[in-house]
Amino acid sequence: MYLHGTSKINANGHLEIGGNDVTDLAKEFGTPLYIVDESLVRQRAREYVEAFKASGLKFQVAYASKAFSVMAMCVIAEQEGLSLDVVSDGELFTALQAGFPVERIHFHGNNKTPDEINMALDAGIGCFVVDNFDELALLNALAGDKGKKVNVLLRITPGVEAHTHDYISTGQQDSKFGFDLGNGAAKQAIEEAMKLDNLVILGVHSHIGSQIFEVEGFRMAVDKVAQFAVSIRAELGLTFKVINLGGGFGIRYVEGDTPLPVSEYVGAITDAIKANFANAEFPLPEIWVEPGRSMVGDAGTTLYTVGTSKNIPGVRKYIAVDGGMTDNPRPALYQSRYEAVLANRANEAAEETVSIAGKCCESGDMLIWDLELPKADNGDLLAVFCTGAYNYAMASNYNRIRRPAVVFVKDGQADLVVKRESLDNIVCNDVIPARLQKSTLAK
Ligand SMILES: *Cc1c(COP(=O)(O)O)cnc(C)c1O
Repeated sequence: MYLHGTSKINANGHLEIGGNDVTDLAKEFGTPLYIVDESLVRQRAREYVEAFKASGLKFQVAYASKAFSVMAMCVIAEQEGLSLDVVSDGELFTALQAGFPVERIHFHGNNKTPDEINMALDAGIGCFVVDNFDELALLNALAGDKGKKVNVLLRITPGVEAHTHDYISTGQQDSKFGFDLGNGAAKQAIEEAMKLDNLVILGVHSHIGSQIFEVEGFRMAVDKVAQFAVSIRAELGLTFKVINLGGGFGIRYVEGDTPLPVSEYVGAITDAIKANFANAEFPLPEIWVEPGRSMVGDAGTTLYTVGTSKNIPGVRKYIAVDGGMTDNPRPALYQSRYEAVLANRANEAAEETVSIAGKCCESGDMLIWDLELPKADNGDLLAVFCTGAYNYAMASNYNRIRRPAVVFVKDGQADLVVKRESLDNIVCNDVIPARLQKSTLAK
């Protein structure tokens, strides 16, 4: 069994996280429950910051808040000196409500609405990552209306696509994101932006994929972006102050996943930057990265209560839990795999192979196929590991299931950071128009 961060099995044979026996957490907060190991989140943040400090380059580590955007997480990001990426008014509002420093907020997205842009302009955020020509014109106009000048990075598609162990150096033109480097759109975008009075071009941004286990893709992206920086300076006289290499650093979900230490990813990027600009007659750019999954993913555990089971002799045994695709849609969406343990009997030997089903009306609502477990009974607790990123963030109310609570645990303390949704929450935005009420009465 692979245990992340502060997780361990205690003397009672119970899973313990952040000094809290999860059977106590289940009693206090109910299940399903998202448990976040705060020390591990802070450790990851520090690994990024320390690795950049060691490089001697100027940097920003921007937490990609889409992975897990709640106010308490924004506070931790702030305390650890991180910057923050947002991609919607909702994520921006979350950051602002948490008091996150506006100058360290970066606004991403391929279709920011005028309302979202205005909200961000009014807040005075640090920079916009501009995705396309329409946005360049719109942002310039809206900034002009407010008499503001705004910092921008231009998102470019460098023609490197990386995913886990695979990377390819061409053929990623077909993406909805960014200005293509290969076909000249990126250069054209810089030329266009230079003509717009209200935009201050800080540099460029590139994000090559997610759950990446190798440094090669990042090196290739740095090479391409650095060559671009040199040619833009030579041809247009513009020097990039910032190069943003995005996120995508991998984590270990299951055996066989082989992420590198944070320091290796960062070291590969900063070394490649230094190598590329070794002979440049201008200051080295500031390097920004945007880890999402790797900041919070392995710090999260989802705790469920085991309910019904169904044995199909010779086929498979299903064990159902009190959550499912509503709190973790990733297995259904991406065939993502997870490891889990019977959290109240974690020392017991596995006796059977079972598959963990959710409670939604959907055959695809499965969390784990073929998991080795002791014989699980109704009322046992199942802990699914590595659910900190893109789980709460992607949770839904399908079947009108209430979204679980989230607790942060650390040094024996457990604090609610998101309340469990109530039944009133479920109907609070529903409206029965008067017309429908009348027709009911008429009967
Ligand atoms: C999703 C995304 C990230 C974060 O990706 P992770 O794989 O979670 O690290 C960073 N930057 C951009 C532009 C993204 O779209």
